[in-house]
Amino acid sequence: MHGQRVLTQCLRTARGLCPCLASQHTTARFAGGCQGQSKPSTKVGWVQRRHAQEMASGSEKMLEAEYLSTEDAQPCSTSSLTKSSTPAFLARKGVLNARGQLMLKSLTYTDLEQWCISVGERPQRARQLWKWMYYDGGWVRSLDDTADLQDGLSAAFREQWRDRITVDGGLRLRSVHKAADGTRKMVFDLQDSPEAAGAGVEAVIIPVERPGASRPRTTLCVSSQVGCAQNCQFCFTGRMGLRVQLSAAQIVEQVVEARRHVAEHNRRVAAGELPAAAPLAPISNIVFMGMGEPLHNFEAVGVALEVLCHPQGLQLSPNKVTVSTVGLVPQMRALAARSAVQLAVSLHATTDEVRSWIVPLNRRYPLAELIGALEELYPKNAAVRPRVGRHVLFEYVLLRGVNDSLEDAERLIQLTSAIECKVNLILFNPHAGTPFKASHQEQVLAFQAVLKAAGVLCTVRDSRGDDEMAACGQLGNIDELNQLAPMLKPPLRFKDALVAA
Ligand code: SF4
Repeated sequence: MHGQRVLTQCLRTARGLCPCLASQHTTARFAGGCQGQSKPSTKVGWVQRRHAQEMASGSEKMLEAEYLSTEDAQPCSTSSLTKSSTPAFLARKGVLNARGQLMLKSLTYTDLEQWCISVGERPQRARQLWKWMYYDGGWVRSLDDTADLQDGLSAAFREQWRDRITVDGGLRLRSVHKAADGTRKMVFDLQDSPEAAGAGVEAVIIPVERPGASRPRTTLCVSSQVGCAQNCQFCFTGRMGLRVQLSAAQIVEQVVEARRHVAEHNRRVAAGELPAAAPLAPISNIVFMGMGEPLHNFEAVGVALEVLCHPQGLQLSPNKVTVSTVGLVPQMRALAARSAVQLAVSLHATTDEVRSWIVPLNRRYPLAELIGALEELYPKNAAVRPRVGRHVLFEYVLLRGVNDSLEDAERLIQLTSAIECKVNLILFNPHAGTPFKASHQEQVLAFQAVLKAAGVLCTVRDSRGDDEMAACGQLGNIDELNQLAPMLKPPLRFKDALVAA
């Protein structure tokens, strides 16, 4: 008999994967079902199987786990297993790595508590693990990093779990590129994702000093996918197509690694090792504006948001975390219902004709549907606004001769008139092979002036890090790709405008 915490039905015998395999048994022994010839030496066994799942833009491996706790280390007995108590998080993608280890950074705090209880650990163990993963100055890379430290994980716990759980985030920092303006692009290799070979995950640390602001801050721009399926025509990342959906752990790890980088930089400044450098402000703001469409990876991003904003974890305020989307309307509604983080919508055009060309997702969710949803979620009328102080940020990249006319500015005023919002105008950052060009400075100012005159809150975003391809729309690597996402035919009247631009 298994003990009380046997959690899943022993279907593994049929495919030679009895959980007892984790300790002593061999597949051959279970050809006819587990008979329990040997007694496992450990309390808990993990089994996992890997499914190859074809994604629209390439293959993505999905790991599916089944968990078994063998309280008193007896072999399998189907009748004693109860599936209802299987932790629900095990059904999520990216919870196990290719070695079958549980990725603790893919779990919310509630998941982690649930896991502790399910394996017979005290719930307080969750708090201890959480602290070592996320609390300032913790950020450990392995369970063993806590040995000999006050409140470190016990030797017995580490011994028992070392091979089965990991605090690793599934990324390895490959390089950091510093731009002239102090922006730093971090490039990570993905473990266990050969389909992303060479491409890497990119996150950008952006020190921000605003005139008049009481103190500087640091913003981190994170990626949610490698490449992107949306194929926005002006975006370098979009040319890659979708290569990999990042797991929650891989998203969270970008933040943890960036905090390690800032802490190490500041330590070196304080030690006099970098005489010309100033310390960096702590990372207080996160924007999901790196590689990928975050709402196309909704589940992983949702978990990552919970981890980032947990008060005992990475402690980010939801007001300081912004998720940007090109307008996946159902997921946008779901995010607003699930999280208090800020929403940014990449609008980029004021007519369906232009938007369906430069933001192809508009063909599925045209402007009327997108704007209608935003009018419901962020109504200007304070009496019906669901949450005080909430607004949506519209992002609008200005492309010379395409979407930067004063008529566009007037239409933008109309489109946003019933929405509590701000508008952020973005200067286009060119990349090799693009047919688009940045708007002239006078046109940018004239466009902004029309919006301001109508009372629209409107800023122009600085271009940061473009000398290291770290600026908005420049992330990614297409060198090793033999197939790029297609450039779409522009509407006829823009053909000339593009050539002449
Ligand atoms: S702009 Fe954003 S959504 Fe569009 S292709 Fe680039 S990364 Fe994807």
